[in-house]
Amino acid sequence: MPDLAPYAAREETSRGRQYQEQSPDYRSEYQRDRDRIIHSAAFRRLEYKTQVFVNHEGDMFRTRLTHSIEVAQIGRTIARALWLNEDLTEAICLAHDLGHTPFGHAGQDILNECMKPFGGFEHNLQSLRVVDLLEERYADFPGLNLTFETREGILKHCSRKNAKILGDIGQRFLNNQQPGLEAQIANIADEIAYNNHDVDDGLRSGLINLHQLEEIDIFREQFHYVRETWPGLNGRRVSHEVIRRMINKLVTDLVTTSKQKIAHYHPDTINDVRNAGEPMIILGEETKDQHLQLKQFLRRELYQHHRVEKMTSLAKEKVRVLFAEYMQRPGLLPEDVQLRIKQSSGSGASMEAARITADYIAGMTDRFAIAEFERIRQTTD
Ligand code: MG
Repeated sequence: MPDLAPYAAREETSRGRQYQEQSPDYRSEYQRDRDRIIHSAAFRRLEYKTQVFVNHEGDMFRTRLTHSIEVAQIGRTIARALWLNEDLTEAICLAHDLGHTPFGHAGQDILNECMKPFGGFEHNLQSLRVVDLLEERYADFPGLNLTFETREGILKHCSRKNAKILGDIGQRFLNNQQPGLEAQIANIADEIAYNNHDVDDGLRSGLINLHQLEEIDIFREQFHYVRETWPGLNGRRVSHEVIRRMINKLVTDLVTTSKQKIAHYHPDTINDVRNAGEPMIILGEETKDQHLQLKQFLRRELYQHHRVEKMTSLAKEKVRVLFAEYMQRPGLLPEDVQLRIKQSSGSGASMEAARITADYIAGMTDRFAIAEFERIRQTTD
């Protein structure tokens, strides 16, 4: 690994793991975090979870797994260019969506609605629950026992209510502090990845077209350049050339602007980064506006497209039924989940039962959720 900047996350100044462990022999602590994430069950399940298009709509579309890998690729490039901790950035990027429900944002929204009387459901918080509690891989502790810095990066957003319960890791949401720069990179690498790959998937699906995209500044700039430079080029190579150029523009602008911002604050340590009062990993004003314009276009023309919305409402119905049925008839749940519910007792028992049920549903892949829905419907017919 190249030299680290003084304000990068470093093992020597890490706030450590929840359960004490010996340092690994030939890996860094953050490499170990990344490896634990890759070996987790939640990571494997990302392969069959929706990004925008339901997993079985086509083999060419992004899933949460390929999305996470693209985020990690972009994140690592930025981290290395800024002399930040590439291993930590990669770990956060690969883990950032582990708590996502089946059926993308539709699944998360409806589960949140179902959970309203029981404390709600936040997917960032769920990602943290997965790595802190739900993974069952070690004899000595629950979860993956990741470093504070990786967990800090995974918990991208958090309500004040939950932040208060979380202790250390929730503190920054109450004190208006920033996470380390590696976490800031993962956050924006996520946006760069999905905005660009959703253009690609959107075009492939036929729900959006090049003509519409020409209205969007960042797309038009690159599109015209590609047209002029390769007048005979057609088919997918046009859009792919445009998309790679958009990603390159965003990443280059981000690295340049962030370098200036870091130079302005001149942090000596990661704690100076945390206390700076604003993020240092940022796009320049103009590029930021262009990126936002693209994001708004995708929301309007793709995510709210009637075909996607139809898929979304069907998916919501499935999750709603699953939650209601499991809560009413816990006998439908697998035995180990039933056992966990039985073991939760006392005044908070129904809260606990709802949370365990939500954990179970959130862990499902799209296709498993569909199969469960069918199975339950047959038992009620
Ligand atoms: Mg993501």
